[in-house]
Amino acid sequence: MLKAVKVRLYPTTEQEIALAKSFGCARWYYNYALNACIQHYEETGKSLKLSVYKAYLPQLKVEHPWLKEDCYSAVLQCVAINLNRAYTNFFEGRAKFPRFKSKHHKQSIQYPQNVKVVGDCLEIPKIGVVKAVFHRPVEGKVKTVTISKTPTDKYFASILCEVENSGSQCKSDKTLGIDLGLKDFAIVHDGNEVTKYSNPKHLKRHERNLARKQKKFARKVKGSHSRNKYKKLVAKVHERVSNSRQDFLHKLSRKLVDESQVIIVENLNVKGMVRNRKLSKSISDVGWGIFINFLDYKLKRKEGQLVEIGRFFPSSKTCSICDHVVDELTLDIREWDCPKCNTHHDRDGNAALNIRNEGIRILSMDGGNPVLAVPRRSKTNKPKGGRASVNEAGSLHSPLGGV
Ligand SMILES: [Zn+2]
Repeated sequence: MLKAVKVRLYPTTEQEIALAKSFGCARWYYNYALNACIQHYEETGKSLKLSVYKAYLPQLKVEHPWLKEDCYSAVLQCVAINLNRAYTNFFEGRAKFPRFKSKHHKQSIQYPQNVKVVGDCLEIPKIGVVKAVFHRPVEGKVKTVTISKTPTDKYFASILCEVENSGSQCKSDKTLGIDLGLKDFAIVHDGNEVTKYSNPKHLKRHERNLARKQKKFARKVKGSHSRNKYKKLVAKVHERVSNSRQDFLHKLSRKLVDESQVIIVENLNVKGMVRNRKLSKSISDVGWGIFINFLDYKLKRKEGQLVEIGRFFPSSKTCSICDHVVDELTLDIREWDCPKCNTHHDRDGNAALNIRNEGIRILSMDGGNPVLAVPRRSKTNKPKGGRASVNEAGSLHSPLGGV
């Protein structure tokens, strides 16, 4: 099993220069190869193969000796592989067309081998022994190491390790249904009771600060020293927002995965929803997509399962007791009574329980191994182990589900 550990790096000034050179070489070669791909396509109507632009390297190193002196050669091999992956992602509809790399954005390079953990440091070819801060020990065999520099000038290493599958996780085997929302971030039903986790609204807390700094930044003369300073300040606020969001999503997903074996969520077409202008800011801020990914990989590690049910399943409008579906339930109705069995429902708790029941129904349909019925548009339609996605045709309800 692969496991990633992220550590902060504290390079010396010389090491920073060496890193800047390596970033520069990787960026240069990426842009060179991308340009070659584009030209080749314009001339022939065909795409350039990975092996072709990989084979440019020896000649390029002769023409540009710094490419050999300043950068570890395996890093450049990785660049070629990454460009090839960017193209594949584009062709399979998962990503936009690859873009040229700019030195003004986040920088990163990958080492497929030969990075070693030495005490409190990382030994990196061509860079040296760099001071690092580990929050957890690096276990197993080190595979790929990605070194990056953020727009706020921080350095990180993401270390991918191959570890033995421990399988001795604590035995909590609940099945949780989760309804994701805006007011409450997650409404969780375990079959007996509902737990609500409120939405921390990360962006909101920093909004005024961000707006003020962005305004100042916009007023500065292009290329001036103070413009650069404000650019960094704006990037810092963004970093803080994103850190607190990640922290929240990691902690909550860890908690839920620790208490369960199966988690059922609605397959939210987050991208489609973000197009709703009025809500787009809150929806991007809330991070449902990231949350589902966190649940997925954490469950996989303990051999649990994430089940996604179709987003047209009427989770809010169905009575979880008698399965009666009401015609309409506008977003402002938070509690309602079932006209058929008279049960009084809390809107969100009822939706979470329905999601749970629907997931269990799907799981039991095929011996606990649901097959992919309708893939999410063109995206990620490969059923990754442990993650099932099933789309049920049902009455169309609000695309915002249980908001
Ligand atoms: Zn009912």
